[in-house]
Amino acid sequence: MNSTALDINRPVRNIAFGYSTQCNIRCGHCVAADASPNTSKMEIDRAKTIVDEMARSKVTGISFTAGEPLLYYDDICKLLQLCKANRIYSRVVTNGYWAKTPDKADQVVAGLWASGLSQLRLSFSRWHQQHIDADNIVRAASSCQQHGLDYFISFVTDFSKNDDTYEQFLRRHSLKFFPEPVIYFGRAGDFDRPPVSTDYRPNLCAMNPYLTPELDMYACCDGADRFSKTRFLYLGSLRNNSVDALFRKSETLALYQLIRTMGLTSIASFSGIPAREIVQYRKCELCEKLFNSKETLRMLTASAASGLTSWHR
Ligand code: SF4
Ligand code: SF4
Repeated sequence: MNSTALDINRPVRNIAFGYSTQCNIRCGHCVAADASPNTSKMEIDRAKTIVDEMARSKVTGISFTAGEPLLYYDDICKLLQLCKANRIYSRVVTNGYWAKTPDKADQVVAGLWASGLSQLRLSFSRWHQQHIDADNIVRAASSCQQHGLDYFISFVTDFSKNDDTYEQFLRRHSLKFFPEPVIYFGRAGDFDRPPVSTDYRPNLCAMNPYLTPELDMYACCDGADRFSKTRFLYLGSLRNNSVDALFRKSETLALYQLIRTMGLTSIASFSGIPAREIVQYRKCELCEKLFNSKETLRMLTASAASGLTSWHR
């Protein structure tokens, strides 16, 4: 097989890169931070080595996330420069605390743009905006537009009427936004959950891995270490594994593959959950129900190479 054929068959490799879990605010719904006040940060030299290794392992997209990445603005700019040099698509997820005036917004955006950032993702929600002036988001987006830097606003919502004024705000300012459902993990774990009843959608999940500042790698960002009974999403540590080895694990484990291709709904149906119940689950909660139970996981793992794969129309 020649190298071109290998590239065609290679899965796309994207990762959420947690440089630090430190944040300057404390959103009530935060998935990234649990009740624990402890924060951690990667060493910059270690982070640079890892980005280089990711480039050699054909990672094509890195999203800097976790806490608030721009608290370490200079470090993040250095990492963005490395991404650019290695032709890696880069994204920074930020709460926009820095855009307090048009000048400050321009200064930060100009630096990110000059460092080669591909896209800025601004978080916005009724929880974020208890701490950050909504006009910061307008100023940050406007600076992006002026510099020709791609941006979008991640509008985190529980789809209740409480969020109508927030959505209207984004529309009034003609901002590019996409709604993102609250994930009921982390601090949102105790929230009241409005009942949902979806249609029988497949609930596929792309499962892009997440790297923590402690160098642990998980098969997805939102679940990460929260499936504590089974550690189903834990891939391993970069202290004793290569980036390539952990990506290969995430790409080849049969149940991960089925989550990507078959979807959680079919897996849930195979496992015996009635259709009437399945439609009452949000995606990540259905995932937790299936894979944070040792018994169900054992059964699904045993079936992954046989009965489960034939459970399709
Ligand atoms: S800005 Fe993001 S990381 Fe910080 S507390 Fe809010 S949701 Fe969590
Ligand atoms: S559905 Fe599962 S794998 Fe996908 S983001 Fe949610 S917890 Fe992670």
